[in-house]
Amino acid sequence: MGPQGCGKGTQAKILSKRLGICHISTGDLLRNAEGDLKKELDEYMNSGKLVPDELIVKILKERIQEADCNEGFILDGFPRNLNQANLLKNIVDIDKIVEIGLSDEEAVKRISGRVNCKMCGESYNTLTDAHPKIEGKCDSCGGELFRRADDSEEAVKKRLEIYHSETEPILDLYKDEVVRINGEQSIDSIAKEIEEKVG
Ligand code: AMP
Repeated sequence: MGPQGCGKGTQAKILSKRLGICHISTGDLLRNAEGDLKKELDEYMNSGKLVPDELIVKILKERIQEADCNEGFILDGFPRNLNQANLLKNIVDIDKIVEIGLSDEEAVKRISGRVNCKMCGESYNTLTDAHPKIEGKCDSCGGELFRRADDSEEAVKKRLEIYHSETEPILDLYKDEVVRINGEQSIDSIAKEIEEKVG
């Protein structure tokens, strides 16, 4: 957990490789939807709002029943509110919650540099050490880089507001499981701190 731009997705990928368990980003699951469902989802997502709980819980439940989740998984972007957290408690036991802390000011700054690959979804930041080697091109697959509609300044402010009012209270529900990490460091230092504290 952590505010937008704290590096959740990046760290989840690193942790997933190190622990050999899958990384489930609910944002990616939703972005990969197709057809009429995609149109419905875009209305929520492009303005920075959460999609309805029943919908995301159904999608997540199906995903964690797949074979690659048998040894465990890392959730990135779920739960986002107390209702989702309570529903999750009925589905699966969570071992640890990694909370990556970041000020709103830094979050807005980082998101303003964020670009993603159209082909593989890889995330880069033009303002930090996570920038692509060639401007506008994905290092991994050569795909074109673009800015997410929900990374506009207005949508980011809305998403941060939701994070503080709806998502942060979850940390009280999982008090014993929360591991706090300082997000205002380099990608490698954050990964190291997670390794030291989570194992
Ligand atoms: P993310 O990639 O995690 O920043 O998510 C992008 C967008 O997907 C969010 O702003 C929401 O609109 C939607 N989303 C992702 N995860 C959830 C969730 N657990 N509950 C509701 N909406 C979600």
